[in-house]
Amino acid sequence: MTTSDSSPTAGETPETHAETSAATETADTTAVPHPLGASHPLALAPVTGPASSVDGFVRQFLRNLNHERGVALSASNDADRYFAFALTVRDYLMARWLEDLRRQREKPSKGVAYLSAEYLLGRQLDNNLLASGLTDIATEAMAACGIDIDELRAQEVEPGLGNGGLGRLAACFIDSLATLAVPNTGYGIRYEYGIFRQTFEGGQQVEQPDAWLTLGSPWEFPHPEASRRISFGGHTETYDDEGTPRSRWVPGWHVQAVPYNYLVPGYLNGWVNTLRLWSAKATDSFDLRVFNSGDYEEAVRAQTYAENISKVLYPEDSTPQGKELRLQQQYFFAAASIGDFLEQLPDDFDLTTLPDRIIFQLNDTHPVIGVPELMRVLVDEKKLEWDAAWAITQKCFAYTCHTLLPEALEVWSVDLLGRLLPRQLEIIYRINEEFLDEVRERYGDDEMRIRNMSIISEFPDRSVRMAYLATVASSKVNGVAKLHSQLLREKVLPDFNEFYPGKFTNVTNGVTPRRFIRLANPGLSDLITEAIGTGWLTDLERLRELETYAENPDFRAAFAEVKAANKRRLDRVMRDRDGFEISDGHLLDAMVKRLHEYKRQMLKVLHIVTEYERVVSGRVAASDIQPRTFIFGAKAAPGYVMAKRIIHLINAVGEVVNADPRVEGRLKVLFTPNYNVTLAERVIPAADLSEQISLAGKEASGTGNMKFALNGALTIGTDDGANVEIRELVGDENFFLFGMSEPEVEALWARGYKPAEFYQADENLRRAIDLIASGAFSGGDKSVFEPIVSNLLYDDRFMVLADYSSYIAEQAKVDAAYADQDAWTHAAILNVARCGFFSSDRSIRDYIARIWHTPPVL
Ligand SMILES: *Cc1c(COP(=O)(O)O)cnc(C)c1O
Repeated sequence: MTTSDSSPTAGETPETHAETSAATETADTTAVPHPLGASHPLALAPVTGPASSVDGFVRQFLRNLNHERGVALSASNDADRYFAFALTVRDYLMARWLEDLRRQREKPSKGVAYLSAEYLLGRQLDNNLLASGLTDIATEAMAACGIDIDELRAQEVEPGLGNGGLGRLAACFIDSLATLAVPNTGYGIRYEYGIFRQTFEGGQQVEQPDAWLTLGSPWEFPHPEASRRISFGGHTETYDDEGTPRSRWVPGWHVQAVPYNYLVPGYLNGWVNTLRLWSAKATDSFDLRVFNSGDYEEAVRAQTYAENISKVLYPEDSTPQGKELRLQQQYFFAAASIGDFLEQLPDDFDLTTLPDRIIFQLNDTHPVIGVPELMRVLVDEKKLEWDAAWAITQKCFAYTCHTLLPEALEVWSVDLLGRLLPRQLEIIYRINEEFLDEVRERYGDDEMRIRNMSIISEFPDRSVRMAYLATVASSKVNGVAKLHSQLLREKVLPDFNEFYPGKFTNVTNGVTPRRFIRLANPGLSDLITEAIGTGWLTDLERLRELETYAENPDFRAAFAEVKAANKRRLDRVMRDRDGFEISDGHLLDAMVKRLHEYKRQMLKVLHIVTEYERVVSGRVAASDIQPRTFIFGAKAAPGYVMAKRIIHLINAVGEVVNADPRVEGRLKVLFTPNYNVTLAERVIPAADLSEQISLAGKEASGTGNMKFALNGALTIGTDDGANVEIRELVGDENFFLFGMSEPEVEALWARGYKPAEFYQADENLRRAIDLIASGAFSGGDKSVFEPIVSNLLYDDRFMVLADYSSYIAEQAKVDAAYADQDAWTHAAILNVARCGFFSSDRSIRDYIARIWHTPPVL
């Protein structure tokens, strides 16, 4: 695959060459040996380039400061230095990027276009330093300039272009694709405002806009000259094309999609892929005539409307917003990305071979509108026969489903689609007709089945089921963990599984060990490397070699010291950020993830309230409880009222518990605001206990669970998502399992879930609920948390009370286990040693083997 070559041209401008080559000549005398070792297959070449020595780095840094920022070192501020520093790292990667793009153009091979509405990237600087092997040189170079590199790091605003797990998965995957040297372009949207910044007022969530671009980003390359025109609205018409009847779309309005490219470097392998994010720009900036007449608002109205498309990330996580703008966003980036890929094919390209060149991987249903768009291009513009176009399309797409919640399966009303994308709607209708003909052929006139499988649903409103469209149009459909894929086949799409044998598969999610072990936990990384040597960062199964070290008391002591140091580091971050101390000797119990009822933060609250109530009621002496610090991080979708109430309750409980002298400081609750990737990198390595307590059958996979286990936290969890696989790998004795299994959940639903019975049956539960209901956490005002209490008692789809007793019992086992620190450390080491499977490199290898079939390039 090749990417259209707008980026190379940017790099080939004469002044860039002139400047860098001058630096190269003088500075490139002490090239560093390749960190993987010269014989490593990915070690294409030693680290060279303008910044590959300390002197060279300094020179290039000063050049960037002078020429790109227009300041002298003595007059520069932190932002100037951060920019110049980042540009210096970027300069180094550029050469490789251009080289790899050229290679892909000259010898194109099948590549992956990953289509995702979200990329939760996290900060880029350290990752790019790590990938290029420049960390040591850069650190020395800055020291030579008298600059504290940590202050530069702190300047970077993390691009929060995603909500949570789904967006972070996309970011991990493009990292692994580059590290495995698979030709890939990640396509998405360059939201001007990413996920909101969360603050608390009176314990309640307040959302602030995330203006991540205010100071600009040194990592992006805008390419306005490569903009694409994206159309909306209007009508369709048929015409006679020299005897062939054809359809065409006569759109009503247009918007420009402007690409911004970002480098995605592989880890020390000289491979650099591209992340291409689209920004919306009005086709005509404004109406000068209207402006001159004095009606300024009217003059820019159309411009504002068009540019709203990439203005904000929808702050939803797993519940769709029926918003027109959301559909505009989806079509905007799907159409721009598909058009972008097709445009760079040679004019004489045989489109029937398109599946040999590209696979469009659909990250959830957000880009599925790309299916009728590709059909439209092939049939209306390239003038292929419908059947030929459909055969190509079905081979070019693959679909990843991310949910099990029925309300999260996206649908678009036919009415809205017809107004916004009339031709695509016609195409969807035809796809559906032909699909249902096939179904009829197989099963006869089984109207029930046909209604169930139709891409168009009739009730309550006529709408398009995007997951069905994706399933019909894709070569493969995958779930994201073993259990999830099984439930997908058996519960969500059983008719399709029967109809398309072999189409459904599983690829268990993973996380990139570069960011989530090496960068987040340098102490642990050094310890691992000391024990088993290098190489594990790109071959994470090698962590198995740590198993024998778990039996070595010196190694356990060193491992425990790394954890303690990570806690001290988190303590510094939390003091600074939230004025909160993390006390010595506390078990650090972390629940960080989006706030959603199915994830059951509420169950965690009930545990805390129970511990607290047992102390204040005098049933347990404070001195007899295991000191614990409970740390929460979670954003709630702004419109999700119950989730926001739960945030309020957690903060309220924290305020009371933390201030109550009877607890003697042995229970502490911190809800740290604005959980994001940067914070995850600090919290996870410090945690002792990972809370993965969703109702079984609701969490598709989870990836937070993997990050914790790989950093040596033990998990308390239900048999849900990838927890199942974590437990299988680490062993029952190193995992705290509780709660109903998925079949037990189903059975209880079938019998009729009566929460009041659980409330009556467990005294601790009664006391905890009663304490919340009494107003103890709301200054005596019983009404504040009444909706939460009545939800738990009468109306809780996520069965919090049903799992309460089992959860509390298992937490007692956690306390008992933690009392034996050495045994705990032993179990923690085994968690690290046995979780190498959860590298996103393994996920990508599975995608290649089961879905993409892309040949290796290196
Ligand atoms: C990994 C990650 C998530 C996903 O967490 P889950 O526990 O799997 O829901 C969400 N947000 C951030 C910032 C992450 O790094």
